[in-house]
Amino acid sequence: MKSMAKMKYHYGLKMRCYPSNQQKQLIKINSDASRFIYNEMVAIGKELMQLRRVKLPIDTVQDRIKQLTMRQNAKQMSNHYQFLEDERIDSLAKANAIQNYRKAWNAFRKVPGVPKFHRKSYRWRYQTNCQYPGQKTALLTNGTVCFLDNSHVKVPKIGLLRVAGSQARLLKRMCETRIGTVTLTKDSADRFFLSMQLASDESFVEAPKADHGHIGIDLNTDNFLTDSEGNIVPNPRYYRTIKGKLVKEQRILSRRQRRAKKEHRFLRDSKNYQKQRLLVAKLHAKVMNQRHNFLQQISTALIKNHDLVVAEELRSKNMLKNHALALSISDVGWRSFLGMLAYKADLYGRQFITVSPRNTTQTCHNCGFVMGINGTVKLTLADRKWTCPNCGTHHIRDWNAAKNILDKGIAKLA
Ligand SMILES: [Zn+2]
Repeated sequence: MKSMAKMKYHYGLKMRCYPSNQQKQLIKINSDASRFIYNEMVAIGKELMQLRRVKLPIDTVQDRIKQLTMRQNAKQMSNHYQFLEDERIDSLAKANAIQNYRKAWNAFRKVPGVPKFHRKSYRWRYQTNCQYPGQKTALLTNGTVCFLDNSHVKVPKIGLLRVAGSQARLLKRMCETRIGTVTLTKDSADRFFLSMQLASDESFVEAPKADHGHIGIDLNTDNFLTDSEGNIVPNPRYYRTIKGKLVKEQRILSRRQRRAKKEHRFLRDSKNYQKQRLLVAKLHAKVMNQRHNFLQQISTALIKNHDLVVAEELRSKNMLKNHALALSISDVGWRSFLGMLAYKADLYGRQFITVSPRNTTQTCHNCGFVMGINGTVKLTLADRKWTCPNCGTHHIRDWNAAKNILDKGIAKLA
């Protein structure tokens, strides 16, 4: 059977799920165990680093190094801490915790610093894997994690989980489709999710030929984006509409936190604090949901309808210096938007590229004149429309920029 990595197409599936109280308990136990093991690995890693740095040939130090090195795997860790042998804990969850630590370690090699401890939080999370013992062909319905029908998934140790969403399209697939890493999470708004990585040699989506050819998009702050055809997608400002309410509820939350502290109560035992915490978390979740849906719809439409989509590389480093723009940028989520365009381009077999934002706004698309030279004044954010001093063409700033971005993209491909 082919491994996930060897398969051609990959697909992420995230479903809301509705565990029973008993299942919630099991998810918590596994999440706690994963965090414990991860943190234990962090502690061992830190101690080893210090011991090795001093380079003492003393036996006690060398013994300790040997001991710690040995404990860096799931089996040894379970021997050392008896509670990890609890049969409700998924052994793959333990293995994944260790693997995640190693991944973090490898990622941190490139950047100075070592993996940090994971704090206890209202979020739960653990990972397991789907395995296919004795199977010749991997399907969504014959692994250790498997779909029983559209709304039920069997997960090791947890049992049958009810899930939302429409997986019917995926379940109809006859070709080999493998489930890889499976993640169970609870967010701070107490919603549970089941996510899985899928892989296959056949595409996960049907991608009919695109209706339109190429398109350039200019991301800006006046509107969400303007494309090279002159279409404008206005900015959704969910956060701004909900901000007043959020501020008010957050104030109540911190008041309750202060009171609990004054009366020497633990926050976890303070009922009113917890009620309010959940309310605030739900408000945040609502904004995030709306934004996510918006970005999904726009990015899918762009990719589905065009062979080539060109956008600017983000220059948020410079732009975030400007505080007035900072809120808008984090608000609209351009970075996740570009990420979506990239993976959807793969999914639908389209092309998505980014180009340098240099002069895309300042250049006249008609004659190539660049504003700011020959004594002309550079356009500012306030200039929504302008006229080229060289050829006299009248421009809408963002539309002109989008056309330049598309040209740059085509030039880059040529
Ligand atoms: Zn011109």
